[in-house]
Amino acid sequence: MDFEKLRAEMVADLQERGIEDTAVLQAMRTVPREVFVQEDHLEYAYYNGALPLPAQQTISQPYVVALMLSALKLQPQFNVLEIGTGSGYAAAVLGQIVQQVHTVERKEALVAYANARLQQLGYTNVQVHLGDGTLGWPEAAPYEAIVVAAGGPTVPVSLRDQLGVNGRLIMPVGSYKKQKLQLVWRKKDGRFGQKTLTPVRFVPLIGSEGWADADQ
Ligand code: SAH
Repeated sequence: MDFEKLRAEMVADLQERGIEDTAVLQAMRTVPREVFVQEDHLEYAYYNGALPLPAQQTISQPYVVALMLSALKLQPQFNVLEIGTGSGYAAAVLGQIVQQVHTVERKEALVAYANARLQQLGYTNVQVHLGDGTLGWPEAAPYEAIVVAAGGPTVPVSLRDQLGVNGRLIMPVGSYKKQKLQLVWRKKDGRFGQKTLTPVRFVPLIGSEGWADADQ
């Protein structure tokens, strides 16, 4: 399979759908999505939909990744926090654009899955942490941008608190299975602005400032 050609087609499709951020487009033209997809789904690596991962999780649809990262107005010097590492694909795209990425994943199997792939590709500026991402990662705060790749009932207060001045956060907020993307930004006076964007379907954000764990 000619993954390079498929990747170029995926980016052309993103542009047709209205993605304009050149840093995001360039990063998605570079990161080999096929490395992050499970081997038995390789042929769908560039299909514009979510794909299965171990532990009943999913690798997000390319268009939604592009939309979320574009909304953050990323700049090269940024320190960025991602919640929900999953495969590590979005973390790699972030790592391609910004200086430093911290990404938090609650499932140990996925921390290993993502780490193996990020190391293979040489993303030394991406740190994967095991933990409850609803609490953020205070050790490396503040962040100029935070992206949450799982849907919660509200934006966790801990995450808002770890945003720097003018920092932007994007997260799916809504019910357990259906959400809308919500953009939050911290103003100079310390208050927050917010805007609701398009409907999406993400796996649940499970943790102390998210949904309760269904497995318990
Ligand atoms: N960004 C990923 C897709 C993430 S899917 C990619 O590019 O592949 C959502 C992920 O969020 C899942 O791996 C799930 O285990 C994780 N997750 C859910 N609740 C979490 C929490 N409280 N902290 C950290 N990770 C969480």
